[in-house]
Order: sequence, then structure tokens, then C-alpha cells
Amino acid sequence: MPVCTTCGVQYDDVDPEVCPICTDDRQYVGAGGQRWTTVAEVSAGHRTVVRPEITGLTGIGTEPGFAIGQRALLVPGEGGNVLWDSVSSIDDAAIARVTELGGVAAIAVSHPHYYSAMVEWSDAFGGAPIYVHADDRRWIPRRGSVRTWDGDTLEILPGRTLINTRVHFAGGTVLHWPGPDGRGDLCSGDIVQVVADRRWVSFMYSYPNLIPEHPDTVRRTVRLLRDLEFETVHGAWWGKVVESDGSGVVVRSARRYLEHLGLTPDF
Ligand SMILES: [Zn+2]
Repeated sequence: MPVCTTCGVQYDDVDPEVCPICTDDRQYVGAGGQRWTTVAEVSAGHRTVVRPEITGLTGIGTEPGFAIGQRALLVPGEGGNVLWDSVSSIDDAAIARVTELGGVAAIAVSHPHYYSAMVEWSDAFGGAPIYVHADDRRWIPRRGSVRTWDGDTLEILPGRTLINTRVHFAGGTVLHWPGPDGRGDLCSGDIVQVVADRRWVSFMYSYPNLIPEHPDTVRRTVRLLRDLEFETVHGAWWGKVVESDGSGVVVRSARRYLEHLGLTPDF
């Protein structure tokens, strides 16, 4: 099955001429034109690493980097681990390490750019359900064990709650977890993007093409997140983590964002 080399998403056996995700405004077709690979090729040419992120949560990444280069996270708890987001490679060593850590009971993906090899990861763990927001239904590249969900929030396993902020994609989703000590973590993909200065986050409709998110969507995101407790915000790449006062960082960053657009920073 073809995997787009620019976004890393694996499609079913219908080989499209161009990647639908990359021809959208929020992505781009690589300078050399559309290129395809496979999960087997990516996995053979890269290592699938499973190691702690700086906060101790387990990360899963592809090294050297492939396509967009995001890393996934294992979010533990009652009922098993949630695999938050996904990568385009998978191998026996990574499956063995994740199995030692308790396996994968469910998968949730923030938005279409990170669908990657989510069905392969699900299949490797007994067909674990993959939660994708229904408003991104048109982008689902392979059916597998995908389950669409509706509305603003869904607790998929005890303590692991999805929140549809609508940033970046209509189905753009983050995951809230109280954490082992109740301090709280937000796994945000690039829906709430941890930026270079890790005391701040931002909100974009397109990152590669630098199109800002609509202010009403940013306001809505603050309303959905401001009453949740979370110290930590886990962005989409290794080390992209806000380590303290996460909920305050989201509110301050939204205020700064709206002020720079010349708008009143109210929510
Ligand atoms: Zn693509």
C-alpha cells in the first residue's frame, strides 16, 4: 500500500495519482513531485525508536526523521495504553518494546497529517480501535479499525479524554490526561502547537504555508481547555514540551495571538 513521502500517510491499495492530504492548502506536494514508498521500505531504512520523552512519558519515533517527523506517545492508565498519534514505520523490536510496556488498547490521532501507518499499528496490537473525529471523515486513508466520534469531547479509556478544538482541521483533536500525580498533561499534536520558545504555544491553519487559524476557533479552544488542569503540554516532536503551567500558557498564548491580529483578547 502506498505511503506518501511528504506527509507519511499510508493509503489503501487504490494508488492515487497525487496524495489528497498533500494537495490540500495545509500541506504541499514535494518539490520533486509526488513520490510514494511503503511502510516496509520506511521501516527497513529507519529505526522505530521507543524511548522516554523529557517528561517520562514514552515516545515512539522514526529515526532518521521521515516525512513530517512527528513522534507518537504512549499514554498509560486503567484499561491499557492509548497510542496518541502515530508514525509511518513499525518493526518487531518496537512492537516487542511496546508490548513490554503493556501494549496498545486504543489509538487516537490528532489530525490527518499524522494518520501515517495508524492501521499497521492497530493491526500489530489486535486491531486496537483508532479514534478519528467524524469531521475529518473525508481524509481517512484506510478503514482498518477506525471509529469516528462526534461532539466536543470523548473519554476513550478512563482518564484519557479527547477534545475536538477544530484548530488546523475541523476534526483537530487534543488528548487530556490527569497523569499519575494529577498534575495533568495535554497531548496536543500540532493542534495546540508548542513553539520554539517552550513557554508558549500557537494555533495555525497551515504550518508549512503559514496561514493563521481563525480567531473564533482560537477563542473556542480556550473555552474548551481553560477549565482543565494540566501542567504539561506535549507537542508533536521530541522535546517540544511545555513543562509547567500548561493551562496558563494556552490562555496567555491565545491572548497574545489575538492581540497581534488587532483583536480584543476575550474568550
Ligand atoms: Zn501526502
